[in-house]
Amino acid sequence: MAQTPPPQKPTPPAPPSEPPQSPPQKYCPVMTSEEVDPETSPRVMYEGVPIYLCCDQCVSKFRRDPAAYLDSEIVPALRGKKLPPRGLEQVYCPVLRDRKVSAKDPFTIYQGVKVYFYNDLARQRFEKEPQRYADPAILPQLKKAKPPS
Ligand SMILES: [Zn+2]
Repeated sequence: MAQTPPPQKPTPPAPPSEPPQSPPQKYCPVMTSEEVDPETSPRVMYEGVPIYLCCDQCVSKFRRDPAAYLDSEIVPALRGKKLPPRGLEQVYCPVLRDRKVSAKDPFTIYQGVKVYFYNDLARQRFEKEPQRYADPAILPQLKKAKPPS
């Protein structure tokens, strides 16, 4: 007995299969446009997860305040882990915009709110031309700022 083919049932696209292992980490979680290489990059362990950083400076920053840099978008092996909350609403430096900041980084007070920087040089550049760098997309705390009257 011939089987009638089911009416127009398109083959559903294969569901994205969960890979058994997380994809490899590609970028540094501190200097987020720097690539890392698990073979050669410096590594720190966080709750049994290896985290690769682009340089020793980033290792120091990470060790000083891991919560600021635990980002499962950048470190896929952290997916599903319970991560401590970041201490800061601000994530990126407004001058070196691919670099993450922590509450232990240099800051200045701008319009009554704290703005954090990757390093002192970035802070000085901001202080020279704050209007150039004070981007609310990067600095969510500016919504609470009081513009000078
Ligand atoms: Zn680095």
